[in-house]
Amino acid sequence: MVKLTQQLTQFLNKKTFGHFINGAYTTPSLTNSIEVINPANEETIVSVSKGSPEDVDYAVRTAKTAFEYQSPWRKMSPDDRGKILFSIAEKLEEHKESLAQLITLENGKLIKDARSSDVGGASKTFRYYAGWTTKIEGETLDISQPQKGNKQNFAFTRREPIGVIAAIVPWNFPLSIASWKVAPALAAGCTVVLKPSEETPLSALLFAELAVEAGLPPGVLNVVTGDGATTGSALISHKDISKVTFTGSTQTGKIIGKAAMENVTGVSLELGGKSPAIVFDDAIDFDATAKGVAAGIFRNQGQVCVAGSRVYIHKNVFDKVLTDIAHVAEKMKISDGFDEAADLGPLVSRSHLEGVCAYIQKGQEEGAVLMSGGDQPFDKGCFLQPTIFSVTDNEQTIVQEEIFGPVLVAIPFTDMEDALQKANDSKMGLAATVWTKDISKAMTMVNRLQAGVVYVNSPVRSDPNLPLGGYKHSGIGRELGKTGVYAYTTLKSVNIVY
Ligand code: NDP
Repeated sequence: MVKLTQQLTQFLNKKTFGHFINGAYTTPSLTNSIEVINPANEETIVSVSKGSPEDVDYAVRTAKTAFEYQSPWRKMSPDDRGKILFSIAEKLEEHKESLAQLITLENGKLIKDARSSDVGGASKTFRYYAGWTTKIEGETLDISQPQKGNKQNFAFTRREPIGVIAAIVPWNFPLSIASWKVAPALAAGCTVVLKPSEETPLSALLFAELAVEAGLPPGVLNVVTGDGATTGSALISHKDISKVTFTGSTQTGKIIGKAAMENVTGVSLELGGKSPAIVFDDAIDFDATAKGVAAGIFRNQGQVCVAGSRVYIHKNVFDKVLTDIAHVAEKMKISDGFDEAADLGPLVSRSHLEGVCAYIQKGQEEGAVLMSGGDQPFDKGCFLQPTIFSVTDNEQTIVQEEIFGPVLVAIPFTDMEDALQKANDSKMGLAATVWTKDISKAMTMVNRLQAGVVYVNSPVRSDPNLPLGGYKHSGIGRELGKTGVYAYTTLKSVNIVY
C-alpha cells in the first residue's frame, strides 16, 4: 500500500464528514450517511453525510447571501477575483499529491492520471478562467428607435453574473469536471453549491477547503454530499438556484432539464456519448493509430464521456488494425491505481462493474464476436480486462448504448459514405475521431459528423480553451472556453436617452 501524504492522513482521520458550507464543515450526520468505498479493495474509506433537503436549503441560502448586492464577493473587482482564481490554481498544484491520492482512493483511477488529468487539469482550468475575470464584456449597439426633439441615445449590453449555481458532477473525473463548472462560474462572479457523486465526494470536500485557504470568501463555494435521489433532487428544485449545470447520464439529464423548466432556471447538460473513431485505409501510421484508438477507449477504464467506443475500420485494413489494437490491449497492466506501472485500474464501483459486465454478456447473446478480454482478472476489486468486440450490425445494443467501461466495439465500413452513415446513426453526438492522412477526407468528415468535438489523428483530449458539449442526446450547451464563462452570465440591455 502506498504511503499517504501526512495532509491526506489528517484529512481522512475525520472518519465522518459533514457538508462544507460557509467555509466550514457542518456537524456530520451519524444516522444519515454514505460509506465511501475504495473500488480496488472494496473497503470503506470513510463516511460522508447524506444531504437532506434542509442541508441543501442551508447551502443554497448561504450561497445566496454570498451573492447579495454589496457582499464582499459582489463588491470585489474582477482583478481581485482573478487573483483568487490564480491562487486556487496554485493551491491545487501545491497539494497535487494529496488530492491525487484521494481521487485514486475514492475512484480507483491511476494515480498518474489523477495527478495529470484531475488535479493538473483542474489547476489549468482555474488558471485559464482567472484570466477571464477581467475580460467579460458587453457591446455598444446602434438602435433605430426615433428620439424626440434633440435627444440622442446610447445603447449597450452588460453581462452580469446569473446568481447561485447548482453544479452536479459525476465520479469519472471528480475534480476536473467540477473545475469546468466552478472556475467559470466564479470567474463570472456567481456563487456555487456543488454536489459531487456519492461515489467520489471526498476530493470535492478537500478542494473546497483549499479554495477557502486560497482566499475565496466563505459561502461562495459550498459542497453538499449525498445521493442523487435525495440531495441532488432537493438541489435542482430549490427555488433560489439560478442555473443548474450537470454532467452525467442522459437519463438523469432529462430529470434535471424538467426540474429546471419547472423553476424556469437555466440549464446546461453534458450527457456523455457513444463516440465513433473512424480509421481509413490511408491512416498515417497504423501502429500509432492502433495505440491512439486504444488510448481513446481504455483511458480511465473507459469511463470517459468522449471515449471512442465505436471503432469503424475500413474493410481493407479491418483485420490488421483490430489485431494491432488487441495487441495493445493485451499488453496493458491491470493493477491497483497506486501502482505507477499500471495501465488500467478498477472501475468505480461493484454496481458499475456489474452493469458493464451485463453489456458484455448482452453483446455475446446478440452475436458479437469477443476478440479479447471480457473477464474480471482478480477475485477482489472492481477490475475488468480491456474488452474488444467485432460486430457487423450497427443496431446491436453494444453499438448503440453507452457502456462507460473498457469495452471497444469494432465495425467494418466500405467507403466514406458508409462510415458517415454508420457513425451518425446514433442517439448520441458528443465526440468523434477520424484517422486519415487525406486532408479532404478529414475535412469532409469534420463537416458532416454529428458531434460536438471532432479530433483528427488523435484521441480526444480536453483543453480549457476548447468548448466541449454534445449534439443530440449528448446534451445542451457548451462548457470551457469563452462560451464556458459567458454561460454563467446573463445579458442586460440598456438604453440611455439624453
Ligand atoms: P448519473 O447521471 O446518475 O449521476 C451523475 C450525477 O448526478 C451524480 O452526482 C448523481 O448523484 C447525480 N444525480 C443522480 N440522480 C439525480 C437526480 N434525480 N437529481 C439530481 N442529481 C442526480 O450517472 P451515474 O453516476 O449513475 O452513471 C450512470 C451512467 O451515466 C454511466 O454508466 C454513464 O453512462 C453515464 N455517465 C456519463 C458521464 C459523462 O461524463 N457524461 C459521467 C458519469 C456517468 P449520485 O451519483 O450521488 O446518485
